[in-house]
Amino acid sequence: MTNREKPHSARPSPNETAFDTVPRVARGSFGRRQVFVMPTIFQRIIDKEIPAKIVHEDDLCLAFHDVAPQAPTHVLVISKKPLANLAAAAGEDQALLGHLLLTAKKVAEQLGLTNGYRTVINCGRDGGQSVDHLHIHLLGGRALHWPPG
Ligand code: AMP
Repeated sequence: MTNREKPHSARPSPNETAFDTVPRVARGSFGRRQVFVMPTIFQRIIDKEIPAKIVHEDDLCLAFHDVAPQAPTHVLVISKKPLANLAAAAGEDQALLGHLLLTAKKVAEQLGLTNGYRTVINCGRDGGQSVDHLHIHLLGGRALHWPPG
């Protein structure tokens, strides 16, 4: 029986989208407490459990088209290291953060964004973050307004 066929009673995680509404809960223990680990939708894309339109992949990151594009080109560059967001990054992640930015630049060139583009990192609820897995938005293909809402 696959995960999708299993009956479930838990409510979908906020990380689940209309494309993936079946929660998958891994159960473990930490001392005497039970711990529930719910992989984000981005972790499941990294694990190739759900499809994405991938434009770049290497050891540290994955880049794919956003499912709800806010511009003619809207790509997400995500870290393979499961950091929840920028606030969760530390000094040891310096090279990784640089790599994510340089990858966004390379993908922008690859996709022909010759008139410019914008990179955005939403962090936390006030930052508008909806998927708790570090990612950079790469937006281009039209003139973008400032300031954002
Ligand atoms: P944020 O709000 O900064 O956390 O951005 C999350 C982004 O992930 C949004 O722009 C969503 O449209 C996008 N997204 C969510 N699920 C998927 C998916 N399965 N494939 C591609 N993009 C997704």
